Amino acid sequence: MIKEQKHFSILLAILLLSGFFVTSWLSYQAAHSSIEAQISKDSLPLTSNNIYSEIQHDLFKPIFISSLMAQDTFVRDWKLNGENDPQQVIKYLKEIQTKYNTVTSYFVSNASHNYYHPNGKLKVVTRDDPLDRWYFSFRNTPSQQTYEINIDHDTAKPSKMTVFVNYKVMDYEGNFIGVTGVGLALDMVKNLITSYQKRYQRTVYFTDISGNITLHGESFNNDKNLNEHINNPVIVEKILSTKSSSGHYLDQNKKVFLNSRFIDEFNWYLIVEQDALSTENDLTNTFKVNLLLSVLVTVAVLLIAHITFNRHQKNLLYMASTDKLSGLLNRQAFEPIIKNYMEQSDKQNTKLSLMLLDIDHFKKVNDTYGHLTGDKIIQHVSEICTSHLKKGDTICRWGGEEFIIALSNTSINDAVDTALNIQRSLSRSSIEPKITMSFGITTYRPKEQLDDFLLRTDDALYQAKDNGRNGIQTTL
Ligand code: GH3
Ligand code: MG
Ligand code: MG
Repeated sequence: MIKEQKHFSILLAILLLSGFFVTSWLSYQAAHSSIEAQISKDSLPLTSNNIYSEIQHDLFKPIFISSLMAQDTFVRDWKLNGENDPQQVIKYLKEIQTKYNTVTSYFVSNASHNYYHPNGKLKVVTRDDPLDRWYFSFRNTPSQQTYEINIDHDTAKPSKMTVFVNYKVMDYEGNFIGVTGVGLALDMVKNLITSYQKRYQRTVYFTDISGNITLHGESFNNDKNLNEHINNPVIVEKILSTKSSSGHYLDQNKKVFLNSRFIDEFNWYLIVEQDALSTENDLTNTFKVNLLLSVLVTVAVLLIAHITFNRHQKNLLYMASTDKLSGLLNRQAFEPIIKNYMEQSDKQNTKLSLMLLDIDHFKKVNDTYGHLTGDKIIQHVSEICTSHLKKGDTICRWGGEEFIIALSNTSINDAVDTALNIQRSLSRSSIEPKITMSFGITTYRPKEQLDDFLLRTDDALYQAKDNGRNGIQTTL
């Protein structure tokens, strides 16, 4: 590869690669920021809405059931009439439990502190029992808070964690007379959340108004509250002070987007999180593929450029070294070849002969038959001369109707034989008009300069012309 071509290829590679790289990088950046905007403005709020709808469908039912129980005139009348015949309310609770498939249902009377359950009158709630604390704390909440969701040990089965919907029961004057409600298995609720997580590929959890994490699905770490989980007080403050918010925080250098909304019915915040990792990985992969393609395209372009360049180069070389009319080498091309022969002859101590051939009275041919016929004669002579060359001989069109033949490993006598053969072929040739040629032959003197070598050959030719043409003249 020549130097210019190398420079050109390097420049081309740099231009292509940097161009490809810059466009890939810019589109990567653009896609990156649009994906982030899309996550935080569209996809995350949308999933949050969908999950909210599902929660409404799945979890509002127990709130609704508890509400109906609290409004039920039977429960209230039975209580106001002195809680006679507990079997009546027990039957009622059992019906609710069976009909709505809840893990528990209950009524706690404020007058007797009796805890009624589908299995019977379970116990009397007391302030001293930690298991009963929920009752007294709920009773003390402001009257406008008619219900609460509470995750607690089940009084009936203390080993089981249960999601309770506690509803205040009021008499017809609006006085507090007890608490009723149903409970759902915590595992069931957690499974629901896990199913949302799986379906939407998001992390879903709830916190109460103070930021304590109340419910979450599978694969959630043990963070107890938002500050532990998010590690960004500004975001936590934003979540807990607004009805809905969105933002992002860094978790081990990983950007996590979140959307929060306050659910009045639960008095909890629903938080949906998503990290941009999977989409980011897709982007990075696209970027890498783009770069790889760029490299491939660059290699292909360089290859094509190389092939084109070489073909062009060959054409140029051919055009520069070949004589158009005869198809023989021209004078420029001959020079390095003869110099190479001379070097070889010096090195290997072999014979080298040089023969100059000139068509006799060629001007007359032109004048008589025209230039075109003259051209044909030149082509014909070229063919005859070429047909008598052996391996290691090189012929060249030296000038107008003048040829030169370098014969390596050839003594002057052998060169004369070649000249005789050419002469004979010419005389037998059917070409019209008949022409003859003069031959000047000399042999190489070791370490001789090319000019001297040529000069002696030229002298020989001159003598051949002088001797009357159509002859072979040698000089030593
Ligand atoms: P001599 O025997 O002394 O060599 O006589 P000559 O007429 O051949 O010698 P000279 O060198 O004076 O003339 C050569 C002529 O060859 C002159 C030129 O017009 C002609 N010639 C040179 N190149 C070409 C060519 O490519 N085609 C044709 N048709 N003629 C050419
Ligand atoms: Mg001539
Ligand atoms: Mg001549």
